[in-house]
Amino acid sequence: MRYISTRGKTAAHSFSEAVAVGLAPDGGLFLPEKFPTITTKLVAWEKLGYADLCFEFMKLFATDIPEADLKQIVLDSYVHFSDPKIAPLKKLSKDLYVLELFHGPTLAFKDFALQLLGNLYSYLCAQKSESINVLGATSGDTGAAAIHGLLGKPNTAVFILYPNGRVSALQERQMACSQAANVFALAIDGSFDDAQAALKEIFGDQDFRKKHRLSAVNSINLARVLAQCVYYLYAWLQIPEQDRSRIEFVVPTGNFGNVLAGWLLTQMGVPIGSFKVATNQNDILYRLFNTGEYKVGQVEPSLAPSMDIQVASNFERLLYYRLGCDPIQVSRAMDEFKHNGSFILPEFKAGEFSASRCTDSEIPGIIKSVYTQYGMVIDPHTACGFKEHTVGKVSIVLATASPAKFPDTIQTATGIEPKDPTLEALKLRPIVKTHITANAALIKAFITKNGV
Ligand SMILES: *Cc1c(COP(=O)(O)O)cnc(C)c1O
Repeated sequence: MRYISTRGKTAAHSFSEAVAVGLAPDGGLFLPEKFPTITTKLVAWEKLGYADLCFEFMKLFATDIPEADLKQIVLDSYVHFSDPKIAPLKKLSKDLYVLELFHGPTLAFKDFALQLLGNLYSYLCAQKSESINVLGATSGDTGAAAIHGLLGKPNTAVFILYPNGRVSALQERQMACSQAANVFALAIDGSFDDAQAALKEIFGDQDFRKKHRLSAVNSINLARVLAQCVYYLYAWLQIPEQDRSRIEFVVPTGNFGNVLAGWLLTQMGVPIGSFKVATNQNDILYRLFNTGEYKVGQVEPSLAPSMDIQVASNFERLLYYRLGCDPIQVSRAMDEFKHNGSFILPEFKAGEFSASRCTDSEIPGIIKSVYTQYGMVIDPHTACGFKEHTVGKVSIVLATASPAKFPDTIQTATGIEPKDPTLEALKLRPIVKTHITANAALIKAFITKNGV
């Protein structure tokens, strides 16, 4: 299997090459040259546990990694999940299920991809007798999940920049209490944008980047998207056959990476009826699916912070298919977006997608009513997925984070303080962070001194 770029100016890459570089050199995102059809395998896959299903699936894509090695990588990636089912599917009513994706080490769905990506990075490094320094800026869950994906792995170091005092206390603990020698939590004086600007400058220095084998943490890595396909399949296979054609996955969405992964299964022949893109008040995608205009807005901080985005970077992958797999049209649209902050897709077909929008004023009420009606406590991101139910569908709402990560909102909404033993244990550990100015030269010096 070979991987091509949405912008068409990159030679085809192998799986390992595409994973190692992340973003394609022409600025585009990697996609398989051709999707395998998996329909004939589905019956046999019904019996598999989560990690075995993941292996069977990834085997079709990671064709340049020997199978025995891949199997070990995949099995190792799901050992740190606290629920034996990894992604338990809970039935709330005849037409409503919740797929719990928060039983990984950082209690949000990003662990599904970043545990695997961490193991892939470390495997690929070992193969080439190289080391890797991973660098990212985060305002939310990604930094913690990246850290826990690489925790203590030999020949790797991970540096996460975040705005000092502007992430939640629990989020900071997830990054700064890891107690691993290869993890560096860098608290920046300044805003998230200052951290991003410094990061961009560092990655722009090609010599430094090469010399330190620097890799970015972001949501566009091909391996992340593929790893996320698996839980959709796992849930779909558990729904009684007669109901499968009515399934609608409801996905709390920010960067579009999660919901895109589900949709890719339709390209492999899995008959999934529809997807609902559930946004918070930062609603670029809601507007897109309702008007055909993709237009950047001002980010407003919300109660569902991991969905506070301006640009849904993975949307480019859907755009590629919607524009007839024509990289010239994709490049043109993305250039227009870069210059004008918007583009219009007059013929844009929402197709399998619909969208909903949930404001901060609605989130606590939804949390309360789900608790009252079903006895289930959901987090503010998941709450956006409960905004509306499409009549006639069997909804599977993806629960993207544990309520224990957002105790204040949950307490206000329900009067209950959600707790998780992982987070309670973190409260007993010292915070180990480095204060640093958001200055590229200073951060580079830090990486030079502490990197591998
Ligand atoms: C990252 C995140 C999202 C958004 O996922 P995308 O792949 O960016 O659409 C939703 N909920 C939680 C809890 C997250 O951490």
